[in-house]
Amino acid sequence: MGLFGGRKTVFVDADILVIGGGMAGCGATYESRYWGRDLKIVCVEKANIERSGAVAQGLYAINCYMGMQWGENQPEDHVRYARNDLMGLVREDLGYDIARHVDGTVHKFEEWGLPMMRDPKTGRYQREGKWQIMIHGESYKPIVAEAARKAATEVYNRIMVTHLLMDKGKANRVAGAVGFNVRTGDFHVFRAKAVIVAAGGASHIFKPRAVGEGMGRTWYAPWSSGSCYALPIQVGAKMTQMENRIVLTRFKDGYGPVGAYFLHLKTYTQNGYGEEYEKRWYEDTKALVGEYVDHHPVPTCLRNHALLKEVAAGRGPIRMVTKEAFQDPHKETVGWENFLGMTIGQAVVWASQNIDPKHVNPELTTSEPYVMGSHATCSGAWASGPEDYAPAEYQWGYNRMMTVDGLFGAGDTIGGTAHKFSSGSFTEGRIAAKAAVKYVMEKGKDEPQVSEKEYRDLEKAIYQPLENYRVGRNEIVAGTVSPSYLLPIHGLQRLEKIMDEYVGGISTNYMTNGVLLNRGLELLAMLKEDMSCMGAEDLHQLQRTWELHHRLLASESVAQHTLFREETRWPGYYYRGDHMKLDDENWHCFTLSRYDRNTGKWDMEKAPVYHIID
Ligand SMILES: Cc1cc2nc3c(=O)[nH]c(=O)nc-3n(C[C@H](O)[C@H](O)[C@H](O)COP(=O)(O)OP(=O)(O)OC[C@H]3O[C@@H](n4cnc5c(N)ncnc54)[C@H](O)[C@@H]3O)c2cc1C
Repeated sequence: MGLFGGRKTVFVDADILVIGGGMAGCGATYESRYWGRDLKIVCVEKANIERSGAVAQGLYAINCYMGMQWGENQPEDHVRYARNDLMGLVREDLGYDIARHVDGTVHKFEEWGLPMMRDPKTGRYQREGKWQIMIHGESYKPIVAEAARKAATEVYNRIMVTHLLMDKGKANRVAGAVGFNVRTGDFHVFRAKAVIVAAGGASHIFKPRAVGEGMGRTWYAPWSSGSCYALPIQVGAKMTQMENRIVLTRFKDGYGPVGAYFLHLKTYTQNGYGEEYEKRWYEDTKALVGEYVDHHPVPTCLRNHALLKEVAAGRGPIRMVTKEAFQDPHKETVGWENFLGMTIGQAVVWASQNIDPKHVNPELTTSEPYVMGSHATCSGAWASGPEDYAPAEYQWGYNRMMTVDGLFGAGDTIGGTAHKFSSGSFTEGRIAAKAAVKYVMEKGKDEPQVSEKEYRDLEKAIYQPLENYRVGRNEIVAGTVSPSYLLPIHGLQRLEKIMDEYVGGISTNYMTNGVLLNRGLELLAMLKEDMSCMGAEDLHQLQRTWELHHRLLASESVAQHTLFREETRWPGYYYRGDHMKLDDENWHCFTLSRYDRNTGKWDMEKAPVYHIID
């Protein structure tokens, strides 16, 4: 089949369209069916929901479980915890809403066959930490996907969604989405009454530590290409806290998780000389962030800060002290199983580097920054809150609806709500779906209309890189560099370099300032101009091209937000060298942006943080 001649257009009508079948998308698909028995529920996913998203490899712990049935924690406690970790700035209404429902979600996972570990003495779920429970989770994602598959009218795998469609009549109302099948090349037009975006956060917008052949080895899944931000940004949805990128301290080279090690195995860290170092940086940190350094637990970013300072002072590497814990055979087993159930690569790295944690304390390092909304970070779309709990200013319609009519989000997509993790993301998908069904029911016959011109114009733009390549390749006799097109890998490396050097990546030790950010934005604008010259050799490269488009828009948003917030709120995640201190007087607020795709301009504003819980 010729890529152009034989391409079909497939039209799909849906009441609810869920974009991305990861944790939040599966939650949204499942719950849409519960409330919308007769509705047409469609889930569209660029991979295969069986093994897609950040949970594809499995997990060893569910990081958000209250344990209300045993009086372990209350939702209010979780809000306090997330607020503390994010240095005071979270959407407490949204966080509370997830926390009050998350236990019910976890109980469903168990019902569906997820093997949970139990404390042999109490019979309760085995706690790893205050919020985490341990699971045998290699098959976590297939189990969750099965529930979504059974609930959906149709699941479309292998379709990369590139753009949302807007209503012909109402400028601010969503009407569906378009994308292409990454295997057949068919063009897909989804017409929908409500859309739930659950397309995961962004890795590979900053240059990774592992480059060349190793560049796929990042902490965050390499396939998370920022679609959950780019899709809403393109249509003018307001975003929040996009500056709040996350940097993870993880085992070196394999990025293996440290949670079970710290919390369950009770391991701890030391500098290269076997010394405790966090206390040494107490005064230094206090001078930057004031009393936040005295909060318990110490916020994640501040722990990174101490590590970075210690290494910069020449006393690296930082090591995890595993030798003591691993003398206990049970702990040794847990330590290895922790990787085998979710990050096999770390076990392989240790084997290849002669690291047996029973005899050698392994090195830790900090990752390049990522953008996501569900981990210890809260970038994402600005969403309407729950009717019974959100302050009036945070409510303009339906729960989890963005500032675009009919457009909902969940998981990494929604901003201001850190620490939801896998279970909280699924829960938020359920919450968004319930509201989206209500929206569809209440709108009744008032349905959005798709413009043929809009999707035909998009179709042309989407496939243009194949044409650019077909024509431009005739100009080269050898190699991959052409005067007429840019390959996706070249564009990606250029993006990563700009973000790394100007927006606070690893090369500058996460440091940036207004001058750097402004120059970075100029360079991003030049890259954006060049995106019309992308060349794609095949459908795989076409997907890479559109992932790059999404990463680029998400990056621009990160740079704009970082420029707007004139303070260093999260040392250890990034530093504004020209505003090195936390500034509660001026910046105890959310940052909001709105992108205008016609002018390419960003409008920035502040929004108040309401502390609902004492
Ligand atoms: C390394 C790592 C370790 C973690 N460890 C834990 C843990 O131990 N415990 C825990 O509870 N949580 C953990 N989490 C958090 C958890 O994985 C996330 O909170 C959760 O997966 C977020 O759900 P989501 O649906 O927003 O994103 P994802 O689950 O990542 O799903 C996004 C989906 O969207 C699809 N998609 C993306 N772009 C498009 C597009 N353009 N078109 C169509 N589909 C698209 C993707 O293929 C994917 O299926 C971890 C996360 C990471 C990255």
